[in-house]
Amino acid sequence: MTATSRRSPTETVFRLLVGLTGLFFLALGIGFMAFPDILAAVFSVEPAYSLGVNGIRSDFGGLFLGMSFFCLLGATTGRCRWLTVPIIFLLLIIAGRLIGIGLDGPSPAAVKSLLVEVILLVLLAVSTVVLALRAGSNEKGLKVSELLNLKTLVGAAVVAAILGGLFLSQKKIGLALVERIAAKSMNADVIADLPDGLHVGLCGSGAPLADPRRANPCVAVIAGRSFYVVDIGPSSERKMELMRLNPGKVKAVLLTHFHSDHIGDLGELMLKRWTGGSNKSPLEVFGPAGVETVVEGFNLAYSLDTEYRILHHGPETVPPAGAGGLARPFHFPPGKNEAVIIDADGVRITAFEVDHAPVKPAVGYRFDYKGRSVVISGDTIPCQSLLHQARGADLLVQEALQPAMVGILQDLAQKIGRHNTARIMGDIMQYHTSPEDAAKMAKEAGVRHLLLIHIVPPLPASILKAAFLGDAGKFYHGPITIGEDGLLLSLPAGDKQILQRSLL
Ligand SMILES: [Zn+2]
Ligand SMILES: [Zn+2]
Repeated sequence: MTATSRRSPTETVFRLLVGLTGLFFLALGIGFMAFPDILAAVFSVEPAYSLGVNGIRSDFGGLFLGMSFFCLLGATTGRCRWLTVPIIFLLLIIAGRLIGIGLDGPSPAAVKSLLVEVILLVLLAVSTVVLALRAGSNEKGLKVSELLNLKTLVGAAVVAAILGGLFLSQKKIGLALVERIAAKSMNADVIADLPDGLHVGLCGSGAPLADPRRANPCVAVIAGRSFYVVDIGPSSERKMELMRLNPGKVKAVLLTHFHSDHIGDLGELMLKRWTGGSNKSPLEVFGPAGVETVVEGFNLAYSLDTEYRILHHGPETVPPAGAGGLARPFHFPPGKNEAVIIDADGVRITAFEVDHAPVKPAVGYRFDYKGRSVVISGDTIPCQSLLHQARGADLLVQEALQPAMVGILQDLAQKIGRHNTARIMGDIMQYHTSPEDAAKMAKEAGVRHLLLIHIVPPLPASILKAAFLGDAGKFYHGPITIGEDGLLLSLPAGDKQILQRSLL
């Protein structure tokens, strides 16, 4: 008689159920490894930027693949011992779930997850017993004493005591943590700690279409000790603070044009620069003709708040003369489409015309500092003036929109009768640059590194990056980075390197 023929129907059913549980964990494990952002959204986990996605991919992916491995091993060998591992993990997961419910209260989603976990635990536990008792088994049941001996019980009691102690000391721990975290963030001076050179920080790498990972356009440029901000789109000021770039230190804002996605947080930056740095003169806002209207509007909108702040904190803390912004419009000399608008402390900033028709004027900026150079395209289609400025630059910070993806959104909007959205999707393809065209420009200009920002459409999952780049890699063989909020690219003076890290 073969082993298979000795199998009782009950054993077969339970081995099948364990196998299905293993396959369920396998699907989750593969899902977390391949699509961490998407699975995270399904499980209401919010990854904090690339590092968070990395953690979800490895920790969640590893956990579920491991549990799957032992379930499948149990199902295929019929040995109940293998099920001990997923059972222990499920017990710990359930313990964590109960602690979470105790701290935050029972949410329907948490209770539902708990229910699934308890069902799986019961299934594996019953399967363990069935397999242990099966005919011909040489495993005399799972020896409970192996697991629950004195050592493991003492260990479990210690862990429980630590968790209980932490639970009961929440208030004390919370206050101590506030002190530690606040001391760390208040003492942080990212700008002072940077080596001499040009540094580009992305406080906003997205565009008007909402992207959970990206605020609207805002590029922080730190040249030596001077902190400039190019565009200040909605939500970007908050990102600037999260990156610990002190808004009180901003020297000037440079606007590329006046689409709302490039100016929305100007009022917030004016306010935070004033209150955060006790500045005694308003924030200078450079831009082509029209910048006066924008600054005037924000000054007016924030004028009541300005009065309140002075009443709250007194004129010594918030000097009235430092509130708001001061428009610094510039014009190109006749017959020219470029002009040096700032030349101070070793930093030369050149504004140049770009093509964002029908938006006129629209400009980009080139920063030169101690032999290093960064060109920021602003919103534009590929054009000669941008190509000219980018020639030989270390870094081209280029806006990019992927027409193949936007085309899909356009078709979908058309199909479901959202004609307005469909029209806008069609229009925006006319006044932005594709990643492929950005790559061609980078190649022709001979730039050392291409950084794409103003990402359209949103890329909520890492797996979308390759489709977004399309054929860009065929046209430009240097490094291409898809911008993400928090990213800092450093170009040290007297060097050729471009270093990359995240400030979030
Ligand atoms: Zn624009
Ligand atoms: Zn834009």
